[in-house]
Amino acid sequence: GLKCLQGKGIVNSISLKAGEEEFLKQARLCRRYGAAVVVMAFDEKGQAATVEEKVAIAERAYKLLTEQADFPPEDIIFDLNILTVATGMEEHNDYAVNFIEGVRSVKKVCPGARTSGGVSNISFSFRGNNVVREAMHSAFLYHAVQAGLDMGIVNAGMLEVYEEIEPELLERVEDVLLNRRPDATDRLVDYAEQFKGVKKEQAKVDQKWREEPVATRLSHALVNGITEFIEEDTEQARVNVARPLEVIEGPLMDGMKVVGELFGAGKMFLPQVVKSARVMKKAVAYLTPFMEAEKEAGETTSAGTFVIATVKGDVHDIGKNIVGVVLGCNGYKVIDLGVMVDCDTILKTAEEHNADIIGMSGLITPSLDEMISNAKEMQRRGLKTPLLIGGATTSKMHTAVKIASAYEESICHVLDASLVVGVCNNLLNKNRRDDFQRELEAEHERLREKFSSGNDGRKDIVSLAQARASKPTIDWANEEIRRPKIMGLQHFEEIPLDVLATYIDWSPFFWAWQLHGVYPTIFSKPEVGKEAKKLFADGKKMLEDIISNKRLTARAVAGFWPANSVGEDVEVYTDETRAEQIATFHFLRQQRQKKEGQICRSLSDYVAPRTSGRIDYFGGFAVTVGHEVDSYASTFRDAGDDYSAIIVQALGDRFAEATAEYLHKTMRDQCGIGLREGFPAGTKIDDKQAKFLIREKYRGIRPAAGYPSCPDHSEKATLWKLLDAEAKIGATLTTSYAMNPPSTVSGFYLNHTDARYFNLAKIGKDQVSDYADRKNISLTEAEKWLRPVLGYDEA
Ligand code: SAH
Repeated sequence: GLKCLQGKGIVNSISLKAGEEEFLKQARLCRRYGAAVVVMAFDEKGQAATVEEKVAIAERAYKLLTEQADFPPEDIIFDLNILTVATGMEEHNDYAVNFIEGVRSVKKVCPGARTSGGVSNISFSFRGNNVVREAMHSAFLYHAVQAGLDMGIVNAGMLEVYEEIEPELLERVEDVLLNRRPDATDRLVDYAEQFKGVKKEQAKVDQKWREEPVATRLSHALVNGITEFIEEDTEQARVNVARPLEVIEGPLMDGMKVVGELFGAGKMFLPQVVKSARVMKKAVAYLTPFMEAEKEAGETTSAGTFVIATVKGDVHDIGKNIVGVVLGCNGYKVIDLGVMVDCDTILKTAEEHNADIIGMSGLITPSLDEMISNAKEMQRRGLKTPLLIGGATTSKMHTAVKIASAYEESICHVLDASLVVGVCNNLLNKNRRDDFQRELEAEHERLREKFSSGNDGRKDIVSLAQARASKPTIDWANEEIRRPKIMGLQHFEEIPLDVLATYIDWSPFFWAWQLHGVYPTIFSKPEVGKEAKKLFADGKKMLEDIISNKRLTARAVAGFWPANSVGEDVEVYTDETRAEQIATFHFLRQQRQKKEGQICRSLSDYVAPRTSGRIDYFGGFAVTVGHEVDSYASTFRDAGDDYSAIIVQALGDRFAEATAEYLHKTMRDQCGIGLREGFPAGTKIDDKQAKFLIREKYRGIRPAAGYPSCPDHSEKATLWKLLDAEAKIGATLTTSYAMNPPSTVSGFYLNHTDARYFNLAKIGKDQVSDYADRKNISLTEAEKWLRPVLGYDEA
C-alpha cells in the first residue's frame, strides 16, 4: 500500500504488543517508505489505561523510534487509547481524564510527537443515542485539544458545536468526562433518556424532497415548517405564473390547507402549525414587493374576517395569539386588537372591517362579567355578528347561562385553538350555518336547564354560622410558630436568570402549546413525544438566549409581618406590639357541607387568632419578569415569527412562576422552615430538588388572590399597597385586578403546617353580605367580585 500511495502516508497502527523486535521491524519498514506511524499505547502486557502506563509506553516507543529507527519525532503519532466511560463500572470513571492527562504529559516528555485517538469509543455506552454521543464527543475533544491533542478520528457528521450543546446536557456530560461527581453516570443516563431515538438534523439529511416539483416543495416546507428554502422556492413559483398573487392563492394556500387538515385531524400539533405560519409569512413577505410593483391589491381572498381581542381589564394573550395564528393558517384575515380592549373599540373595529366573526378572550374571572356586558352591548347595537368566547376561566356553562342569554345571535364557547377553525367554518358556511346555530342553541338550553336544576354545587350550602362552627381545630396555645428572621418589606432587584432557570416547572410550558403531559415523561408519550422534544429544544435555545443576553429582569418584593386572624380577616401589623394595623386581608370560608361534620376551611384559620394571645406572621409577595417579555416577543412577531414570539411569552410565564418558587424558598429559609429541605435558597438546584418544589412537598403555601381558596381578585389591591409593588417592581393592577405585565405572579404566605390549597366552592348570601360589610363595600359590588362562587341567584 505504501508503495502505491501518493504523498505522505500514515500507518495506523503499530504497537509494542508483540515486543520490541517486531515493533522496530514494522517501524523501519514504514520509515523506508516515508510514512508516519500511529503508535497505539499497547505493550506486551496489554493496553494502557492509567496515565502512568500511557506515558511509560509512549516514552519507551519514542526512544526506540527516534534512536533506533531514525524516526523524526513529528512522524510519530501516539494513540493513547480512548476508552469507554459511563459503563457503570467504577474503574472506568477515570478513562477520559486519563487520556486527557496522558496527552498532556506525552506532549511534554516526547517533544515533537503528535497525539491522536479514536473518539467515538468514549461514548460507546450510549449507542443509539446520538444526541448524547455527539455532545460527549465535542466536549471530550474540547478538553483534550486544550491538553494538546493534535488529531482524532471521529465521524465529522456526528459532532455538535461545543457552544451549542444544551447546557444541562453539557454539565452532565462533563461531570462524566471529568469524573466530577460519583453519581455522574447515573445522572447522565437519566437525563439521556429523553434523547433516545432522536435523529439529529433529520431535515438536513433528508433532502430528497428538494427534487420534487416546486408546488410540492412549497407544501412540504409548510407542513414541515422549513424556512430554509422558502424564498428560493417562492421565487421559482412566482416566475412560473402571471401574477405573484397566484402563488399565494395557489400552491401556498394549498399547502396551508394540508396543514389545517392535518391539525384538525390531530395529526399535527400546535407548535408545528405555528411554525408553518412562519413559513407562510416569509413567503408572503417575499412576494409583497412584487405585488406592490404590479399594483396588485395585497388582499387575497379570505375565508372570512375575524376580529379578536383580550377584553378590558385582562392582559393574558398567549391563547388568543395562538387562535389568531391558527385562523390565519386557515385563510382567515385576523385583526388582533391586543389586550385590555374595551367593548367600543372591539365593536367599532368589527364594523369598520365588516368582520364576519368577533372573538373575545379572557383569563381571569372578572373578564367573565366584561364579556357579559359586551354581549349586552352587541345586542343593544343590533349586531348580527357571531361571537366566540375563549380563555382560561370561560366555560360552556357560563357561556350558555350568562353570555348567550344576553345576545340573540350565534354565540359559541371554544375550548381550544384546535376547534376554532371548525366552529368558524360552520358559522360562515351558508349550508351549515343554520343547523349549527340550532345545535348551539339546543346545547345552551340543555346547560341552562342543568344549571337551574341546581346541579352546579349550590346544594349542600350551610349557614355561615354552621360553617364557622365547622372550622378546622388548631391548638394555638401549643402551636409552634416560627418567627421570620427578617421582618417587613424586602426588595429583590435582579435575581439571576440562570439560577431561576433551574426552578422552572416545564410542564405548563407544554400545556401552553396544547401538548398534554408532564415533563419529562411527555417525551416518551407516543402521540406528542416527538413534537414535545422539538418544542423543548427550541424552548431551551430561547432560554439560553434570554439568560445570556439578559432579555428579562426578574424583580420581586416580599415580606412577613406580625399578624392575627379576626374571624375570616387577617390583620397585619407594623410590628410585634400589634398596636398599628397596616393592612387587613379578607378571606372567605367554605360553606358546602356534603356530609355532616365536614370541615369548612378559610385561609384565615391558619393564622393565630387575635384572641389566642399569640403573635403570628403573615406574608405577601409579588414577582414579575417585566414588560421585556412583551417587547422581546414583539420583535419576533413583527418579523413574522409567531412561533418564537409565543415561546418567549410562554418562557416569560415560566420565569415568573420560577421566581415565585425561588422567592418562596428564600422566605421559608428565613422563617426557619425551609432549612430542613436539604438545600439552601439562592443557588442553582438540581432536578430532584426542583421536583420536590413542584410537588409542593415543603411546609407552607402561597395562595394567590383570584385562585380557588381566595377567589376575589380585588384583594390584590391591598397586597399591592402593602408591598408597594407598583413602585418596587413596576407591576400594576388593571380595572379587573389583573396584574400587568402578564408575566407577574403574586400571593400570600402561610407557614402553618396544616395550611393547604382548597377550593372555596359556592358560598351563601349570608357570607357575601358579611364580606361586603367587612370590606366596607356594597352587596352589589361584593357580588360582582365573587360572581363565580355565588351559590344563589342575585336579585
Ligand atoms: N409550578 C407551577 C406553580 C404555579 S401553580 C408553575 O410553575 O406554573 C401553583 C400556584 O397557584 C400556587 O403556588 C398558588 O399560588 C396558586 N394556587 C393553586 N391552587 C390554589 C388555591 N386553591 N388557592 C389559592 N392559590 C392557589
